[in-house]
Amino acid sequence: MSKVLIIEDEKELSIVLKAYLERAGYEVWTSERGDEGLDLWQKKHPDMVLLDLNLPGMDGIDIARKIRQKDETPIIMVTARVEEVDRLLGLELGADDYITKPYSPREVVARVKAVLRRAGKSPDTSKTSVINIADLQIDLDGFIAAQSGESLELTPTEFLILVTLAEAPGRVLTRLQLLEASQGVAYEGYERSVDAHIKNLRAKLGDDSKEPKYIETVFGVGYRFKKDVS
Ligand code: CA
Repeated sequence: MSKVLIIEDEKELSIVLKAYLERAGYEVWTSERGDEGLDLWQKKHPDMVLLDLNLPGMDGIDIARKIRQKDETPIIMVTARVEEVDRLLGLELGADDYITKPYSPREVVARVKAVLRRAGKSPDTSKTSVINIADLQIDLDGFIAAQSGESLELTPTEFLILVTLAEAPGRVLTRLQLLEASQGVAYEGYERSVDAHIKNLRAKLGDDSKEPKYIETVFGVGYRFKKDVS
């Protein structure tokens, strides 16, 4: 399993990226500080680093330099401004790719895969990459869900909730389980936030909570994807 280190001080972003990359079959570590991130790199020897430019502790440029002095670990630099990319290229840090914010997690996963492929390291492909259920097609590699061929514009959280449910039709999943699957972490007391995501997901699927075609509410417990959906 390929290992990815995310050094990113925007916690929300880091949580979503971690969930997406884990979903794609990577082992992921995160650090919110530059100096700690560099320590983690030394300890864990990840296969690649997703490196934010502006970080507390030590900035991304210094981290990239220090990594390059010792190792060829692939690095994807993440910057908040397009103009910075030219400057970064001029610094010849040896980064393997650049991503500018805002970006979609899906795009980041695609870039990580491409960079690791070039470096000769491929992700774990033992998991099924497409789920076909009823009229839904859920592409786990591409992070795209479609209904009868029409793309559903799901948010990262909605996508991960749908995948988690659709992977186990008939199985009841608690709100906490769904929260953990979609956010990488689950805080008790936040379970109800899942309800809002389910509501939006149902709206996008054209599903009716009273007579559901896909997602059933199991009162007092959570949700399940209907078994034998036709
Ligand atoms: Ca930052």
